[in-house]
Amino acid sequence: MRRNLHEDPSITDSLLNAVKTRNLRVIAEKVIQGVPVNEADTFTMLATHDILELGLIAHFLKTTLHGDAVYYSVNMNLNYTNVCELRCPLCAFSRSENDADAFTLSPDEIEAKIRNAVSSGIDEVHIVGGLNPKLKIDYFLEMLRRIKSITPDIFIVGFTAVEYDYFARINNLPLEEIFMRMKEAGVRALPGGGAEVFAPEIRDVIAPKKISGTRWLEVMRTAHNLGLQTNATLLYNHIERPADIVDHLQQIRALQEETGGFKTFVPLAYHDTNTNIRSRRSETTGFGDIRLYATSRIVLSNIPHLKALWMYLGEKMAQILLRFGVDDLGGTYHHEKIVHAAGASTPVSGSESHLRRLIKISGLTPVRAAANYETRSVQ
Ligand code: SF4
Repeated sequence: MRRNLHEDPSITDSLLNAVKTRNLRVIAEKVIQGVPVNEADTFTMLATHDILELGLIAHFLKTTLHGDAVYYSVNMNLNYTNVCELRCPLCAFSRSENDADAFTLSPDEIEAKIRNAVSSGIDEVHIVGGLNPKLKIDYFLEMLRRIKSITPDIFIVGFTAVEYDYFARINNLPLEEIFMRMKEAGVRALPGGGAEVFAPEIRDVIAPKKISGTRWLEVMRTAHNLGLQTNATLLYNHIERPADIVDHLQQIRALQEETGGFKTFVPLAYHDTNTNIRSRRSETTGFGDIRLYATSRIVLSNIPHLKALWMYLGEKMAQILLRFGVDDLGGTYHHEKIVHAAGASTPVSGSESHLRRLIKISGLTPVRAAANYETRSVQ
């Protein structure tokens, strides 16, 4: 799918001719030459009103990496417990153990959910949950064993860096051993949750008990060094400032230069319903979403994929972003709970045919894939 647009003068000239704003033209030249953009460029992109020119640069990069392909997955979310010790102010999903609507799924309940989703044709399962002190390593190994026994080919994306750090602490085991045991039991990749924004003064307000940004990066470094590829996320539209976004992107880029273990970057628009953090603005704006995604594509040119989760953004904005650097529309996500607990009004799962239609209408080519971007056939 990859096309070497950098070496096609008719395409690079046409990009440079189209980008007339001086600061953006400097960025376009860097992108064409494969030179990383700097912090000042990142501030420029996050504030520009020339979003169409910014989009041309981001789409050039996307097309260089992936041609016309847009990936999506047919998957389910498994949220095994909402009991969480941390009760982060940003979180609408978590509960304390004695709350009436607290839940922890038994292995039998997990097996039933997975069987049900597998019968509807999913390729992968994403597993995340709260930090529940009652759940020790054996619970997770049994969970993974049961899932693999239903269908050995299922692609398991399992547990955030925050959960792995917690598993190591409550089981009194080295982080490396936790990773090795989970990998042996079937985990093939990690989601990117828990990154939020790394800036300590923002993190102290939105998630004061969560591991630091530095620790999140350390856990990811360990996963990458053990051969597990991961996503990275950025939670935006709460109380972060542009400088915090710039810092976050630069830190992720730096770790990627070291390990190469991030496969996908996923900006997540914050929804504040039922949380204890009020956003500076209740919803993201179209300009804000477009600038953030296109900027992420350009800054993180060393991470192959950029995902726009239609469930967080709404399908219309997610579709527009396919022309602003995005190459992955996310999945069908049966049973998503977390963003809906925080007020997302999108449907809890989108059909495969609908996702394919959104991509085709954009003039691009839908490709069904697992989380490692191995293509899967459409059933
Ligand atoms: S965001 Fe994660 S760690 Fe924080 S309370 Fe919610 S489930 Fe727990």
